[in-house]
Amino acid sequence: MKTADHSTIWPYDERGEPRRFYYSRTDHPAGAAAEAELGRREGGDALLYASGMGAVTNVLLAFARPGTTIALAEGCYYGTSKLLGLLGDWGISYVEYDQAGPAPAADIVWVEAPANPVLTMPDWERLRAHSGLVVCDATIATPVYLRALDEGADVVLHSATKFLTGSHDALLGATVTRDPAKSARLREFRTNAGIVSAPEAAATLLEGLETLDERMRRHTESASELARRLEGHPAVSNVRYPGFSGVISFDVEDARAVETGTELILNATSLGGVHSTMESRYRWEGDRIPAGLLRLSVGLEDVEELWADLGRALDLGHSA
Ligand code: PLP
Repeated sequence: MKTADHSTIWPYDERGEPRRFYYSRTDHPAGAAAEAELGRREGGDALLYASGMGAVTNVLLAFARPGTTIALAEGCYYGTSKLLGLLGDWGISYVEYDQAGPAPAADIVWVEAPANPVLTMPDWERLRAHSGLVVCDATIATPVYLRALDEGADVVLHSATKFLTGSHDALLGATVTRDPAKSARLREFRTNAGIVSAPEAAATLLEGLETLDERMRRHTESASELARRLEGHPAVSNVRYPGFSGVISFDVEDARAVETGTELILNATSLGGVHSTMESRYRWEGDRIPAGLLRLSVGLEDVEELWADLGRALDLGHSA
């Protein structure tokens, strides 16, 4: 059952000293409980933020400075590259590279496992040999399929808005680290910048983690089957699916006709929910990705119903 203490203050103790919880910008009970559980699953210290991009911002505040260079996985979440571009004014620069190969020299290597929406995976062996700070956005893998700290990442990051909460009703971000100095630095910036989670969203995460394994298993089963069928569809080319989790991307001639042609699959942004969503990413990312690329996040609906819905829409797109 989801219960969250929404207080912003808690009284000091009888000596006038702050207790564990005293002001919610520093820490709050729902956040602390969800952090403990996420940290247990990732094998590190978790911190929650107001959104996935809040987590990205906090990592940059904590570990980048004027002159910092960042090697960013090509085709990764558009918002991350957009923010890094804006931070050019702060003296932070980035280059994109193919994360399946070697990363160029950089202070920070920022990878995504797998990249949203091109669904490539990082090369961990090469990353372990890199001298930079390795940040891994594991939003799509989740700790069910990847414990990135074990692979050699210094910081794991999640948009918990996606699979971790899983129901399209909480905006939330997370980082996980194993090094106490890095955790302390992240916490210090989070508190002072005020990029903190709402108690309700944190409670949604704790609840979501209870069903995460089962949901991810089902997302994977259905997405594997749909990826296989899409491979054989004459209107589809370039099916990308990493073999786990619920996100597939593929190319069609007329993405707009296909995305607006489904009924069960919502034509909406975001991913990772129990309801399937699909959208053309071109509207957001432009020439960064193929014009006909559709990103499908496979939910927990019946796979035959999903295929029927998708098949109808693909036929529409084909004859358009
Ligand atoms: N990282 C990835 C891989 C994402 O897909 C997203 C959002 O789509 C984000 C980060 C940003 O998360 P949020 O929307 O919770 O700020």
